[in-house]
Amino acid sequence: AIEGDRVLREPICCILGHVDAGKTKLLDCIRHTNVQKGEAGGITQQIAATYIPVDYIKERAKPCEGVIIKVPGLLVIDTPGHESFSNMRSRGMSLCDVAVVVVDIMHGLEKQTVESLALLKDHNVRFIVVLNKVDRLCGWKHCPDAPIKKALENQSGNVKREFEWRLSKVVTQLKENGFNTALYYDNHKFQKVFDIVPTSALSGEGIPDLLLMLLLRSQATMMEKLTFVNSVECTVLEVNDDKDLGTTIDVVLINGLLHKGDQVNVCTKQGPVVTTIQDLLTPHPLKELRVKGIYKHHKELKAAQGVKIVARGLKYAIPGTSLIVVKPGDDLGQSEAKRQMNENEEGNVIQEISSLKTCKEGVYVQASTFGILEAIIEHLNSPGVNVPVSGCNLGPIEKKDVMKASAMLKRKEEYAAILAFNVRVMPEAAVLASESGVKIVTADTVYKLVDSFNEHIKRSKE
Ligand code: GDP
Ligand code: MG
Repeated sequence: AIEGDRVLREPICCILGHVDAGKTKLLDCIRHTNVQKGEAGGITQQIAATYIPVDYIKERAKPCEGVIIKVPGLLVIDTPGHESFSNMRSRGMSLCDVAVVVVDIMHGLEKQTVESLALLKDHNVRFIVVLNKVDRLCGWKHCPDAPIKKALENQSGNVKREFEWRLSKVVTQLKENGFNTALYYDNHKFQKVFDIVPTSALSGEGIPDLLLMLLLRSQATMMEKLTFVNSVECTVLEVNDDKDLGTTIDVVLINGLLHKGDQVNVCTKQGPVVTTIQDLLTPHPLKELRVKGIYKHHKELKAAQGVKIVARGLKYAIPGTSLIVVKPGDDLGQSEAKRQMNENEEGNVIQEISSLKTCKEGVYVQASTFGILEAIIEHLNSPGVNVPVSGCNLGPIEKKDVMKASAMLKRKEEYAAILAFNVRVMPEAAVLASESGVKIVTADTVYKLVDSFNEHIKRSKE
């Protein structure tokens, strides 16, 4: 990863597109894993980071001789495509260097494709359009993992014609949205024209091309941005409670080096917290951060990486805010000054929480991240569901949350419940809840949460 006297870091890539276009399946196909099947309700509910080493890409894509890859790999962030997760999508986007926009070849551009394209334009992020599900063209002959040009040459005249017709439809739609695009191997003006890579996430056609193009286009267009520097740039994605590790935070290290023992300043709901990194963990390459498994321990980690940080005092850390390294000799006042910008971030999050739609009588909702909280409340408020919400909070359920929820005992007893998603219940809170009669409902998908709550209502009416 050395270019002249520059050291390059991995480009960070996010995957966007309409629900069911095949974002998760595409990542599964890249990694040869199966998250898509195991995903709760099929919807990706959290941001996750996957590291793809350059050697793996070389092996799969077998670049022609003379093609020089200068970046050391790729870090892919999978963001949820469900409509309710727009907040998390823009968070993912703000830390990405490049994006993949997945379009279902049978459907063309859809609502969230258009929304994603607009966001990419706003954030000035380059992207590659993936025209996925080519295997659904009538009569497609599977050519597993083949480069797409080869796979297309293998098809009958009818398949080729249908492909050309659907491709030109998508090119026109993209043009209507202000983007010039071309099939990547016909694209000789890639500074101005965006690439289209046809793929099948089912049988792997076009996947080698996609991986290689992500690296080649990134290094050709953003050398400056991908230059490794020593100062740390790092964003918190998720706060997690781990049975063995305690509270940890999942971060994306965008640039710089992190060390075990570093002092860091993290933005929390209770204000800035300075703490020491006790451990730096990464999943094994090609496994993503949220898939449980054996972690690798590190003394030092270099950007770009998805990292799990173990440290004290992170229970109330706020996703989406940045983590700052406090250098030895740094006076804390100075680091506080740097923090100010992030306190604004924190203020925004709390303001955002209070802007969520709540009413006087309703249930209490608690979740691990703002994005999920927002999605749950939106879902509860939707016409088919109609569960009113009176209050909400982020992070572990504490006594004060139970107390707030218990206010409903006198007003509307069946609403004296906390709907909890991906958060821990503190022991004192659990005791108080069972003593006072507040029901705590937990589940691992939004839909199950609503189902369990409805069951609770049914039972309490009987
Ligand atoms: P996401 O919502 O964009 O993450 O979409 P998923 O990855 O969950 O895929 C949605 C559905 O489309 C699943 O049933 C996948 O198996 C299917 N799918 C995804 N990619 C392909 C593809 O290339 N070919 C075919 N035939 N089906 C696909
Ligand atoms: Mg998905």
